[in-house]
Amino acid sequence: MLIPKTGLPAKRILKELNQRLGKDFTYDSGRIIGSMCTKPNRFAQSVYAKYLAKNLGDIGLFPNTARIEKETIQMLGSLLSCPGAVGNIVSGGTEANILALWAFRNSVAQEGDKARKEVIIPKSAHFCFDKAADLLRLKLVKIPLNDKKSVSVNAVRKAINAKTLAIIGICGTTELGVVDPIPELSEIALKNNLYLHIDACFGGFVLPFLENNSLFFDFRLPGVSSIAIDPHKMGMAPIPAGAILFRDPELYKRIQANVNYLAGGESPQTLLGTRPGASAIAVWSVLKYIGIDGYKKIVKRCMELTQRLANAIDSMDKISCVIKPTINVIGIKSDFIDIRDLASALRRKGWAVALFPNHIRIVIMPHTKPVHINWLVRDLKNILRKELI
Ligand code: PLP
Repeated sequence: MLIPKTGLPAKRILKELNQRLGKDFTYDSGRIIGSMCTKPNRFAQSVYAKYLAKNLGDIGLFPNTARIEKETIQMLGSLLSCPGAVGNIVSGGTEANILALWAFRNSVAQEGDKARKEVIIPKSAHFCFDKAADLLRLKLVKIPLNDKKSVSVNAVRKAINAKTLAIIGICGTTELGVVDPIPELSEIALKNNLYLHIDACFGGFVLPFLENNSLFFDFRLPGVSSIAIDPHKMGMAPIPAGAILFRDPELYKRIQANVNYLAGGESPQTLLGTRPGASAIAVWSVLKYIGIDGYKKIVKRCMELTQRLANAIDSMDKISCVIKPTINVIGIKSDFIDIRDLASALRRKGWAVALFPNHIRIVIMPHTKPVHINWLVRDLKNILRKELI
């Protein structure tokens, strides 16, 4: 395709876009049932659209946008029990996790300890850590999971050696929504003088709002150095919006560089140069608009639907839940049929589910309604009765 020599009328372009993009999956249809993203909050969408020109790469031009970003990090820091945390609104979990490892690596390197290159990480970690390790020339030491599908703490202890740089814990794994035993990891990190980064990209907007939650994962635990939390997942902010928070400002400085040629004067930057102020402003707005009580309601609804679906799955012949869901993620497994055949059959019926090697992942996000669960249960029963026999 080539750029047209003369520009086309907006009407014609919009017509083509409507025709073509209308064929994508939509959140409103309920058919997106295996994704960790959701329809962004409508108010946050309008805020985002209003402030598209704001550039956080040149904060001398947009100092008030930078203040909004700082306040957003303060709000997220308070949610995670450290109002003084520092960091940035970033493009998502991948960037946030890269930034954490980058800060750890630079910090020890500046202290002259370049040999510490090993990162102890649960096998269940998102593949963005493989990207991070490749970029930063770190070695991931992948730790097996126990029967609860969380990281084996004993294996973490055994993996520590003189080259260990950091430990990663996950709050809401990509595959099953499991929360690792972060209090134990915190103790291990403190005892061995290691950094501990928590990937709470998904669970960070679930656990703090969960009724009767007894799983601790945040800065209350003294060993936690940094947390990644994604507003564009359960936070209902428009894409792109992740966040990285550091407890220690000195650590954050290890990935900051001051760019001094910019129109607005000296500007601190980390990985990206130009970056969307609209994302930070939209996150600031959505946190204020939904509020703690609003997020509690959203999480309660998602959990009720999750429980309903999990019960229905466990009552069916041939399939069952991999584990009892902790948060709004369900794994479906089978000892009788090939799970890939079930995923294909669901796809033929119009469902977009996520497929892992041994299970199907369902994520009950805020856009999912009770009727969507009814339809999914009906289709699952029909497939199991008529197609996969
Ligand atoms: N961490 C976890 C636990 C995730 O589930 C994901 C994505 O689903 C990521 C990190 C990466 O986030 P993103 O896709 O926003 O880069």
